[in-house]
Amino acid sequence: MTIRMPMRKIHLTDVDIEDGSILYNYTYSHSISHLFNGSQFKISYNTSLSNVNESIATIPFVANVAPISWAEDIEIIVPSIDKRFADSLISVRKELNRMYPRVNFGSESANIHIQDSGGSRYDPKRKTSGSATLFSGGVDGYATYFNHREESPALLFGEYKPVDYDTHPQFKKLKENVVGFADVEEVGFNSIDSKYKQLINYSNVNLLYKDYLSNYSWWQKVQHGLFFVSSAIPACYDKGYDKLYFPSSFATDFSDGWASSASIINQISWKSGVCQHDLTDTTRQEKWELIANNVRAIDQDIIIQSCEPLPCSNCQHCARNIVGMYIEGLNPEQYGYSVADETFPNIQQKIESKEWKMESVNKYMWQDIKNHTRIESNNTNELLNSEQKFFGWLSKLNLDNYEVKKESGNLDKKMEIFKLLLNHSPTLANHIRRGYKSI
Ligand SMILES: [Zn+2]
Repeated sequence: MTIRMPMRKIHLTDVDIEDGSILYNYTYSHSISHLFNGSQFKISYNTSLSNVNESIATIPFVANVAPISWAEDIEIIVPSIDKRFADSLISVRKELNRMYPRVNFGSESANIHIQDSGGSRYDPKRKTSGSATLFSGGVDGYATYFNHREESPALLFGEYKPVDYDTHPQFKKLKENVVGFADVEEVGFNSIDSKYKQLINYSNVNLLYKDYLSNYSWWQKVQHGLFFVSSAIPACYDKGYDKLYFPSSFATDFSDGWASSASIINQISWKSGVCQHDLTDTTRQEKWELIANNVRAIDQDIIIQSCEPLPCSNCQHCARNIVGMYIEGLNPEQYGYSVADETFPNIQQKIESKEWKMESVNKYMWQDIKNHTRIESNNTNELLNSEQKFFGWLSKLNLDNYEVKKESGNLDKKMEIFKLLLNHSPTLANHIRRGYKSI
């Protein structure tokens, strides 16, 4: 049973482009106030945006609210929107609907209504000046950069966490690392200060939909691809970049659905450019090979980011990077990681004890690493050092024995009732969040 509510609205009333920032003012129907935060959303760039008009500036706002509007039958009203981008959202909607049928995104249209504000019609012809890539300083970003190095793609660095990247000591170091890399490679560097929690109330949206998304979050499964791409488009338009690379998170053989999968990213285009999901068929370990073939020649200290802001060297994500680098003959200590005698035995222990949950994403990543392990597994010589012992163990590891499924309970009916309650009492969500797990 699907409950469709009477049409509710989110209305972008004003788009103000000034000094490299875009400020959005918006209102929404009272009955959907549990889905959104505040009434203003701001993105700042280290570029003037002097070439950006209203219809391009509107793109990040629309991209952030579109998926929840499709799921909840909310009408989006904007003063203007770039037509090519709006049309591309229809394909994104169809793809989300295919990936997550239980959410019921629908597929009819992009659900965007233009209420002409009589605003700027300034629409300059854009000269294109090459490509750009989203770049956070992690393995996916470095691999995509090296994959297109001969084009000298500009780096687009998203400052999406709720900290000041110019003053927070660790985020500052991460940003300086990327700026330093852009300098040594003599490519453009563009920062995009777009805090991801401004517009959507992710806590409440997750309450409503996590169960329909294999227990992953709305951000992970639905939103982050659109968020990063759309935040970058005004910078691309301003600078004339006509191709925007999105470094892949997974190769296409990971089929569980992801907000930045190729089937979503490759749909997105705007007036003067297109998005391209990059290294779509390249696994994480193959990316380490690509990085290893290029990075040694660079005369610059590089931090290959993992857990943010800087690698902790202890978490599962860092462990995979350390092991991945070893396989390709890179020394993790040269790329921001600490490795000690206990590192490899600890990784083994955390997998064997199931302290690290082997959910589908993690299992996929470890399987890839295991497939590239080159150390003989049948050598049990006591004199092997800890790394060799580890790789011997890994090459024989049966990951199926450790897999943890993120269960989706059969909560449809209860969720529909819960949705109804929320729609009639938007503030209810905040009061019953803690009790939700017992439903
Ligand atoms: Zn870590």
